[in-house]
Amino acid sequence: MSAEVTRIEPRASEVSEPFWEATRDKRFLLQWCVACGATVFYPRVVCPTCLGDTLEWRQASGRGTVYAATVEHRPQNPGMAAMAPYVVALIDLEEGVRMMSNVVGCDPESVTIGMPVSLTWEPLSDGRHLPLFEPSKGA
Ligand SMILES: [Zn+2]
Repeated sequence: MSAEVTRIEPRASEVSEPFWEATRDKRFLLQWCVACGATVFYPRVVCPTCLGDTLEWRQASGRGTVYAATVEHRPQNPGMAAMAPYVVALIDLEEGVRMMSNVVGCDPESVTIGMPVSLTWEPLSDGRHLPLFEPSKGA
């Protein structure tokens, strides 16, 4: 079953394909370096900390905090116009890596630095899901 395309959808590369395939089952995977224990994001072939080339995919918590955020009112790309205004944020994940995403499910102006956020999913047109974040419940 496919959803209607309402935003620009990310393409998987050879390296990021396991990440995107897991999103079909709403599983949020990050790479983990077997040699030094560092969490690796974005997906890579070698660990940026120790250059080890044995990276495993592991389930991540989906919890993090907002490192930086901005509200997009007039996106340059018309494909994103229907979503505006929306929040573009850098999220510091519990696993120690930083990910760019959107914060949804709240007033865009209410998103603040340090806000605890939790993973949520937006369906893509091909059965994958896009990892987004929303304010943590009870935070
Ligand atoms: Zn490493």
